[in-house]
Amino acid sequence: MPELPEVETVVKGLNKLILNKKVVSVESDWKKSFPNDINAVENFLINSIIKAVRRRAKVIIIDLNTNYSLICHLRMTGQLVYRGECNWGGGHPNDDFLANLPNKSTRVTFSFSDNTKLFFNDQRKFGYIILLPTSEINNLPFFKKVGPEPLEDSFKVEHFIERVSLKQNSMIKPTILDQSVIAGVGNIYADESLWEAKIHPETRVNKLSSVDLENLYKAIRKVMKISIQRGGSTDRNYVKADGTRGNYLEYASVYHKNNEICKRCKKFRISKIKVAGRGTHICENCQKVK
Ligand SMILES: [Zn+2]
Repeated sequence: MPELPEVETVVKGLNKLILNKKVVSVESDWKKSFPNDINAVENFLINSIIKAVRRRAKVIIIDLNTNYSLICHLRMTGQLVYRGECNWGGGHPNDDFLANLPNKSTRVTFSFSDNTKLFFNDQRKFGYIILLPTSEINNLPFFKKVGPEPLEDSFKVEHFIERVSLKQNSMIKPTILDQSVIAGVGNIYADESLWEAKIHPETRVNKLSSVDLENLYKAIRKVMKISIQRGGSTDRNYVKADGTRGNYLEYASVYHKNNEICKRCKKFRISKIKVAGRGTHICENCQKVK
């Protein structure tokens, strides 16, 4: 499932690829992937110009010049992939599945006036794209309750400690996975950040010192920034907007590294445990329960 760095990478890619393009048609053969009123589509999407692509938490927002926006939830397996006219490969998809689009996972196809296209592929069909007035976005229940953006300059360590401390009796890993506490952290970056900060994922929040929490705050920002530089983590389905894969997982310290030697202490092997129902990767030497 894409997390903040993956969604941010898609947004950066789309900003290079689709800004100022004019939408001439949209096709969808799966109602739940594009559950929009036909009149709204005709009036506010068709013939609109794409003005901006942005992100809030793990949601992609495409703003149109009609004061409407497309809100894209990728969920488990969603992909937004752009294809240019000439080579049908704005990038070089290193995945046979993406060599020819549309394919059997394509749920929505946007066509632009220059004959280029944007495909929304979604194998598992949990994702969707809704069209709605830009001014209504902040009133959606999800946007009302989602926590602050961890990479914003305005998000200081005091805010992080304040947010996490709302869950005094909870274990730290499910706390940072909680989207109402902080936006965009999923399983990969939770494991990577907790290893980086030398915190066992089952430690209760009330057992962590302010130094621990400061280390965790720095670790979350560090691993996410490195991942964005690497184009995100391609675990299964995630791809960048040009159809290519991210390579952060090659640099990851614990995620999917079970049985490899910990690169910090070089004594223990990374083990996989379950924390609050989620597969979790740790070094038992570097991350001790308090
Ligand atoms: Zn270690």
